[in-house]
Amino acid sequence: MPRPIRATVDLGAFRHNYQLSQRLAGPDRRALAVVKANAYGHGLLPCAEAIRDIAHGFALLDMAEAVQLRESGFDQSIVLLEGCFDREDLREARRFRLTPVVHHPQQLADLADPAWDCGPVDVLVKVNTGMNRLGFLPAEVEPVVARLRAIPSVGTIHLMTHFADADGPTGIEAQLEHFLPLQAALGLPTSLANSATLLRFPEQAGDVVRPGIMLYGGSPMPDRQSAQALGLQPVMTLVSQIIAVQTVTAGQAVGYGATFVADRPMRVGVVACGYADGYPRHAPTGTPIRVAGVLTRTLGRVSMDMLACDLSEVPNAEVGAPVVLWGAGLPADDVATAAGTISYELFCALAPRVPVHLISASSSAA
Ligand SMILES: *Cc1c(COP(=O)(O)O)cnc(C)c1O
Repeated sequence: MPRPIRATVDLGAFRHNYQLSQRLAGPDRRALAVVKANAYGHGLLPCAEAIRDIAHGFALLDMAEAVQLRESGFDQSIVLLEGCFDREDLREARRFRLTPVVHHPQQLADLADPAWDCGPVDVLVKVNTGMNRLGFLPAEVEPVVARLRAIPSVGTIHLMTHFADADGPTGIEAQLEHFLPLQAALGLPTSLANSATLLRFPEQAGDVVRPGIMLYGGSPMPDRQSAQALGLQPVMTLVSQIIAVQTVTAGQAVGYGATFVADRPMRVGVVACGYADGYPRHAPTGTPIRVAGVLTRTLGRVSMDMLACDLSEVPNAEVGAPVVLWGAGLPADDVATAAGTISYELFCALAPRVPVHLISASSSAA
């Protein structure tokens, strides 16, 4: 028998969440499903397939993934969020009708070079409105756009920016102040919103929205609103089983480093899941975990292949008892918060050794 750990990916829930993003965006906007990093660890092609008939487009970073989507027959726009890394990429982008972001002068120069012009290409011009990660400064944007407009093979140009704190107290206003005058001056269509922006400031989302985490059922702002309160459904559920039960007495420790010491006699469950499966090693004692349907807590350090949990409130749990690490019945956001991280990181870290079982969109629709 294989190790009992596995992940299920509920493609019906993914479809539901994408449709929710489309409803929030409204009928006049297009929603690019952000499927970078192998669809946040959920599997690029299954996720894309689940919305093939309704998706307005996709956004990702990796050329190989973009080409894979195109070669799998997806005709929608496919945006390269970091643009082309070199001129070969630009050739590929043109060949496969991909839509690169243009965020630095070399990418612009490559686009303008007739030697590399092998067909039309749509682009998004990235404006650095304050995140200071990618993009041209607002003062540089008008000449950049003028140059792009002068390249015959460049088709539609979108103006794009990314908000640093759409989910937090700063919000988007200060960055918008740098963006809106450009939008007014240039009259170009725009792309502004990640999940948090779409959920919190839908009226400011721009013409093309870029929802990511919400499609996977994670809240971009779990401290403000839970995924459930936002109407999102969990997509990935990580499950395993109890593979051993220990009874410890007061004063006995559990796991590496003896970081947890029992203050009373207690039953301890050992779960077949560790950091080599993608469970965060830094999750402390007390991280929520569900055993045989009962919400309980982890104990001590997470090891490579196992972690321990408290069975005090689950007296009937024996070897073979089902465990939910996160997903349906235990929000990934709760586990992430306890571990000092975000659900994005949990999903992306799912290790290749964990078998993934897909629940098809049609079978979960009911
Ligand atoms: C990842 C990413 C998104 C999606 O962000 P979420 O917070 O997951 O919704 C949107 N835009 C850009 C540029 C990104 O890199």
